[in-house]
Amino acid sequence: MLDIFWGGYFFHPAALDYSGDTCQNGCAYCFANINKEFREGNLKGAINALYKKQPATYMDQLLSEGYPICISNRSDAFAANNIRDTRALFTHLAEAKNGLFIQTKCGPEMESLIAMLGDRRDVIIYITITTIRDEISKIVEPNALLPAERLAIAKRLHAAGYLVLIAVNPLDEAWMPREDLEALTADLKTAGLNHICLEMLDIKRKRLGTLSAGRRKRLLDAVDNLGIANRNYVRECTQYLIQQGFIVCKKGMPYRTEFYNDISARLGLTMPVLQDFVNYCFDTYGTSARVINYAEFAAVIAKADFFKRTFHQNTLRGYLLRSGFDTWRDNKQVHSHKELLSVIWNDPRHKMGIRNHSLFRAVGRGKTATLDESGNVQLYFDGAPHFGGKKEVIEL
Ligand code: SF4
Repeated sequence: MLDIFWGGYFFHPAALDYSGDTCQNGCAYCFANINKEFREGNLKGAINALYKKQPATYMDQLLSEGYPICISNRSDAFAANNIRDTRALFTHLAEAKNGLFIQTKCGPEMESLIAMLGDRRDVIIYITITTIRDEISKIVEPNALLPAERLAIAKRLHAAGYLVLIAVNPLDEAWMPREDLEALTADLKTAGLNHICLEMLDIKRKRLGTLSAGRRKRLLDAVDNLGIANRNYVRECTQYLIQQGFIVCKKGMPYRTEFYNDISARLGLTMPVLQDFVNYCFDTYGTSARVINYAEFAAVIAKADFFKRTFHQNTLRGYLLRSGFDTWRDNKQVHSHKELLSVIWNDPRHKMGIRNHSLFRAVGRGKTATLDESGNVQLYFDGAPHFGGKKEVIEL
């Protein structure tokens, strides 16, 4: 199904996501399978959308402007059960003007299908490697290609001129202990693969009880690390990779990175991400203490004309529903990115909001943020991460 990629909003360079049928890889940690076990792609709908003459909806407009498509966030296009549809889709995507962001654990026919896209190199290849040990992969990701086979494909595609990102996502010490991460990264360095994504294992402890016994068992010792232990390990590994000279991406990390700039250089048009604002703050202010206002944030994030438009639908509010029920309930009308950004800037309940980023704290008194003359909070930045409470304010 081709849809707006709400889950990636302000984090992922792609605006849209095409996901096929529930993939057969059967990963124990798969958030898509945990949320909804049976999903169907809608190939015909996706192909029709690519050829729509009169863009009517917000999604149509993103498509017709040429914003990139992720393939796939909730499935794997190269899993055996999706190959037929992927071949059909790629015959059309070869002609599309939208950049492509391919997320996969690879598959035997992957390279021949990518070759169907021709000389295009506005194609990012994101390959997941959660372990380098076959015995772990066979339990955690039972039907996916083995890690060594994925790495071999990554190296060949890199040599063929694609920007290849290695995603240790999710990263857990039980599957990728430090010595394995060091071995993996030494191998990547030799091959010239410099871009790495890291993410936490996103399963809440209280959710464990709702998983089937079989799925829990297949998570192995990762179940013991959920939460703080996993967060600390991902932090340590992020720092290690940066020190090793890799171009790293980790959601919410308190560092500058060229990661998204390299992707934009390939794809041309990309969605704005909160990391753009983090980079802007470091580039503009370094580590000197500053109070930053909303207008500065909006100018960085809503740079392209597309983000200044008003949409005569309430579609953008869908993003709030994905990222926090309370913010969705309390913001009934959101018709422009400007309105959406204002929620992201001001509302501390919003999961992906800038106020929950460790580099920023609202300026205020006691526990209350004070508002400026335009009714927005102001944020304090000094380049140092602060891992205090989410709604904490700083008194200046
Ligand atoms: S490859 Fe991706 S979509 Fe498929 S089961 Fe694994 S995590 Fe889920």
